[in-house]
Amino acid sequence: MKQTGTSSATPSATRPVTLDDALWERVMAATDGAIAPCYQCGVCTASCPWGLLQDEPANVRMLMRRAQLGVAQTDGEMWWCTTCRACEEQCPRGVPIAEVMLALRKLAWQDGHVPKGLSPVMWSLHWDGNPWRGPPSQRADWSRGMDIPAFTASTDVLLYAGCTCSYDNRSQKVARALAGIFEASEVSFGTLGEDEPCCGDAAYALGQHDYLNQIVEANTQRFEEAGVRTLVTASPHCYDMFLNHHPPRDGFQPLHYTQYLAQLIREGSLSFDSDYPIRATYHDPCYLGRRNDVYDAPREVLAAIPGLELTEMPQSRADALCCGGGGGRMWMDTKVGERFSDLRAKEAVETGADVLVTACPHCIACLEDSIKQTDSGMRVIDVAELVAEAVAGTSEE
Ligand code: SF4
Ligand code: SF4
Repeated sequence: MKQTGTSSATPSATRPVTLDDALWERVMAATDGAIAPCYQCGVCTASCPWGLLQDEPANVRMLMRRAQLGVAQTDGEMWWCTTCRACEEQCPRGVPIAEVMLALRKLAWQDGHVPKGLSPVMWSLHWDGNPWRGPPSQRADWSRGMDIPAFTASTDVLLYAGCTCSYDNRSQKVARALAGIFEASEVSFGTLGEDEPCCGDAAYALGQHDYLNQIVEANTQRFEEAGVRTLVTASPHCYDMFLNHHPPRDGFQPLHYTQYLAQLIREGSLSFDSDYPIRATYHDPCYLGRRNDVYDAPREVLAAIPGLELTEMPQSRADALCCGGGGGRMWMDTKVGERFSDLRAKEAVETGADVLVTACPHCIACLEDSIKQTDSGMRVIDVAELVAEAVAGTSEE
């Protein structure tokens, strides 16, 4: 039943809105009722980074109110969300705001309110097994010229490059650096080569949750049959998918590579022969930090590099500013002047560091673009690349 009334959640208290019972039921089902505890304090709107960049930023509180009431959301605001969870850190009612955004995206697909350019991403995922339109035959190209063994049931570690580090030229260097470190540390590791499946992050972030379930089911069966126990990912997005969106299985342990490198350092399998003097600042990727509380492992790895001096940015760990590349935003347009990474790059440059280090291919892409605008000469580098340089005792540049 549709009713017309007024809502204090609208910009004007007198503006009429349509309450749709059927839509309300769909939203409640899609969010599993998670929206109910919201009491409209507005802290989420105040803590969302969009407020730092737009004159009229996304009104997160209003989105939550509309969802509670069953008011159609056709202005596309749920697509702005980078799923960074900065708002959730502050929400006094523990509302899983980013998950609500994704549930609203799921409904938007059903109702045909989807930004241009996202359907091809999903078709690429369906036909090619990755969101980057990369041919499946080129998935293992990142390892060309390296002698990386195929994973077998007797291999200890599956090195999982993921779609971005497989197909994006810049990010391929991260996968290569990791494989080189594993070789130097004499880790028993292998990859699935061209047969490596997508973790499903794009389907998750774009709200294609039914399709995600199919990916998860196929991956679970695949890894079980292959005898995968320890799976080390290059990207925090893949780590988040395997840890939180694939069913737990006895003996199966997904790790982000910074966790694994920290473990190798503690065991003495990875060490540095000489000083590598460099001033660094570290950017916490949202999918590693806020989503999974992995703040110490990357810092532990950096602290093990002799001669490295780490200066923290004012906003770090749980307060870190998002780079803007999560939540499927890599596949959506962001206007010049509205990039979170521009603010983050400025903050990084102000530390006086030589390098801005991070541990996520999406962060690398966003921050590298923004650092170029600063003329600071600062390099953006992944933790894995920095470790590889320190092990070799020489910069790649
Ligand atoms: S911070 Fe939480 S309780 Fe407050 S408006 Fe946002 S979602 Fe609702
Ligand atoms: S998850 Fe991040 S981008 Fe999305 S509403 Fe919350 S603070 Fe804003």
